[in-house]
Amino acid sequence: MRLTRYFLPVLKENPSEAQIVSHRLMLRAGMIKQAAAGIYSWLPLGFKVLRRIEDIVHEEQARAGHLAMQMPTIQSADLWRESGRYDAYGEEMLRIKDRGGRDMLFTPTAEELVTDIFRAHVGSYRDLPLTMYQIQWKFRDEIRPRFGVMRGREFLMKDGYNFDLTKEDALHAYNRHLVSYLRTYERMGLQAIPMRADSGPIGGDDTHEFLVLAETGESEVFYDSAVTDLTFGDRDIDYDDKAQCAAIMEEFTRLYARTDETHDAALFDQIPQERRRTARGIEVGQIFYFGTKYSDAMGATVQGPDGKSVPVHMGSHGIGVSRLLGAIIEASHDDKGIIWPEGVTPFHAGIVNLKQGDAEADAACEALYADLVAAGLEPLYDDRDERAGGKFATMDLIGLPWRLTVGPRGLKNGVVELTSRRTGESEELPPAAAVARLSDIYKGIV
Ligand code: ATP
Ligand code: MG
Repeated sequence: MRLTRYFLPVLKENPSEAQIVSHRLMLRAGMIKQAAAGIYSWLPLGFKVLRRIEDIVHEEQARAGHLAMQMPTIQSADLWRESGRYDAYGEEMLRIKDRGGRDMLFTPTAEELVTDIFRAHVGSYRDLPLTMYQIQWKFRDEIRPRFGVMRGREFLMKDGYNFDLTKEDALHAYNRHLVSYLRTYERMGLQAIPMRADSGPIGGDDTHEFLVLAETGESEVFYDSAVTDLTFGDRDIDYDDKAQCAAIMEEFTRLYARTDETHDAALFDQIPQERRRTARGIEVGQIFYFGTKYSDAMGATVQGPDGKSVPVHMGSHGIGVSRLLGAIIEASHDDKGIIWPEGVTPFHAGIVNLKQGDAEADAACEALYADLVAAGLEPLYDDRDERAGGKFATMDLIGLPWRLTVGPRGLKNGVVELTSRRTGESEELPPAAAVARLSDIYKGIV
């Protein structure tokens, strides 16, 4: 992409409505524009990152054997009356009437609808296990939408639902989700710690939230500092292997890590003092096992191996896809702007032409651009007729992890400059070597 053909409405001033750094930077970098309280338009740069995050979620869900599907945003109230949640959900649910006077709603989550699909089509234990998920816009009429995409009213969520014959199978689905979520967040350059949590209106006993530690987080959390040493890394996972998933679950949930809702001061005090931490966190996901709550209420049963009809065991699992942009920026920025992890960056590298209009510099930039594209990378070429300082400031603000700087002086010596956004360190190398270096950095990511 060439910047002169892009739509990147960066702001020079700090927008006064933004209280936290991620909101400020998303507005300044021209990623989002508020349409109404807690409702945003996603401008090209923000939308690109949103898509990258969605892609990672889809890939990891597929790896775990979960099936992508799509349910509507507008649902009939009838199903929600069946489960008893139409009245229970309260003011967060946006209720709508259609022209026939029928009660409709904008989906805040989709347990009812997916259970209705299940009961219509699945009748035998032989069709289990089954996990379906979607990435779909949700609406919750939050009392206090704030912090940009962190607490929106309309937000993008991955929501998945498992159907299993037995509690044991459903607990495997729970563990499998925990494992796949650990991988998912790590690919986004995030450490998200599973913490024992409270189940809220979804219901059920078993639930973990995934929290990214950040001062601006809305949740108060308590943990053993040793949990932050755990990394998922590049493990070979067989998602059908119950023992392997259970072992990873145990490894990542053994140490004390809880949100304030489930905090137990007496247990916490048993952690050696120097490892006790109280901090704040951003909830980027949650997994639930709720047994037969919805299948009982809605008659979702299957015939078991013995011919008897039994309600299916279910769980649901969510990732805050749009909130993740805010969480990643909270975790990765400096005073100049965003620092995207390679896994989610909107463009893989920026090209800054120090002397736009200079025949040699222009030609070198064009060649570099073509070579990066040929290597499967997506560069953003700042081809504006602007002074270098302005170009650097824009690149730093939008946070591309790598910048290639091209100017007549370097070209005389046959080199361009490759700069890491994270460390600020630069290295001069021939254009071909720079392309090879970037290909190497993005190997396994792109
Ligand atoms: P919260 O406690 O933050 O209100 P929740 O527990 O009600 O969230 P879930 O039902 O668990 O939310 O939804 C799954 C994920 O969707 C959450 O982990 C969170 O990352 C994201 N999410 C929930 N509410 C919002 C919101 N208002 N804006 C953006 N993302 C949200
Ligand atoms: Mg939650």
